Amino acid sequence: STALVWFRRDLRVHDHPPLRAALDQFERVVPVFVLDPRLLDGRFESEYRASFLFDCLKDLRERLQERGGNLVVLTGTPEQELPRLAHEHQATAVFFASDVSPFAMNRDKRTEEALRQAGIEPRRTPGNFIADIGKLKPYGVFSPFWRAWKELPRRDVHGAPRKITTPPGLTVGTVPTATRRGDQRGGETAGRKAMLAFDPNTYDEARVRLDRQTSRLSAYLHFGCISARELETRHSGKYARQLAWRDFYAHVLLHNPRNTHHAYQEDYDALEWEGTDEHFDAWREGRTGYPVVDAGMRQLAETGWMHNRARLITASFLVKDLHIDWRRGEQHFMRYLIDGDVAQNNGNWQWISSVGVDPAPLYRRFYNPSLQQARHDPDGVYVNTWAPDSQTITPIVDHATERKRTLAAYGRARDT
Ligand code: FAD
Repeated sequence: STALVWFRRDLRVHDHPPLRAALDQFERVVPVFVLDPRLLDGRFESEYRASFLFDCLKDLRERLQERGGNLVVLTGTPEQELPRLAHEHQATAVFFASDVSPFAMNRDKRTEEALRQAGIEPRRTPGNFIADIGKLKPYGVFSPFWRAWKELPRRDVHGAPRKITTPPGLTVGTVPTATRRGDQRGGETAGRKAMLAFDPNTYDEARVRLDRQTSRLSAYLHFGCISARELETRHSGKYARQLAWRDFYAHVLLHNPRNTHHAYQEDYDALEWEGTDEHFDAWREGRTGYPVVDAGMRQLAETGWMHNRARLITASFLVKDLHIDWRRGEQHFMRYLIDGDVAQNNGNWQWISSVGVDPAPLYRRFYNPSLQQARHDPDGVYVNTWAPDSQTITPIVDHATERKRTLAAYGRARDT
């Protein structure tokens, strides 16, 4: 008997529920990844992320080969490619881990229909998140979500399988080569190394200091090079709580697919965005005259990475100092972030723009870029690394003036 294991953004062999289930129940498995042009060239096309993905696929293929298997890499749409591949190997089932974005949900529905029509059984398992977030009623505030989420049952963590048997004569296909890479190498090998090297004792300080490194596991989590559930078992305290935010934003998107284009707080779809294209260009090119904003934006463009604090500061600046639609910022981040993830990016952009979940009074969610810089880059190391010339640029706006305009604009949107 033979089954396909459809890898998506769970590019690992350790603690992989679909692979494990398939190996338990079938004699042979065909591990497969489908390069989908709708994703690679779609709304959120990204060279940095694509190159990280290709690293992941090469590494996954090697990890599978070590165990006697291989990875079939196809190009096309899964709804067409998977029934065809299953037919070729007389596979009767396809195992895969469920996901939350509207694109993934629609694609999976179509693929499941196509498989059923071809007489092949689709088998969804968990795998991408710590807990089964679909089991909870919808939450719009983090703390109550977190209390309920902590009580959800957890699956056991499993190691990598020892032996994988694939059918003879697999045509495996090639993994494309990257055009432009960011500053992180993809793959389970690199991901596990980073996971094991991370020292949680340095975390609290790293989180508030722009010149320090947090765990930098987000891209490995996004592509599933490491298992979020396994990571959870290694940590407690503040770090574990931070991981819960990832499940939270996935849960929010699962229940609110319209968030990809609309504000979660519907009133704020009426916000009028008065910002100019010139200001948008200055922001994305790191020419605002606010050094900490410019440093963040240049680091993003050059490396595909930004510290969480810099993301907060730069995003807040775009929306609340330049009055530019959060969706434009969201899209820009998706183009560059190696860890760019629809649920996480959208959730965080909506949060910082005060239009999303976990609301706080607007006047409390303002980030004064000069104060933020003094507090989070006290020695100027971050700014001097990424935007040493920014001090010489005249700031394009005055924070205090723009703050008043934002309070007024949000007030008008609420009243309409
Ligand atoms: P650590 O601080 O070491 O945290 C460990 C893990 O916890 C992270 O890898 C991540 O999975 C999770 N986590 C931490 N903070 C958050 C958070 N605020 N929201 C959700 N999960 C969190 N994260 C992404 O993974 N993809 C994105 O596209 C993304 N876009 C963002 C956009 C904006 C405007 C902001 C403010 C934040 C965004 N984040 C995003 C969240 C956060 O900045 C990154 O997860 C974090 O900086 C990654 O670095 P790390 O792995 O070293 O994090």
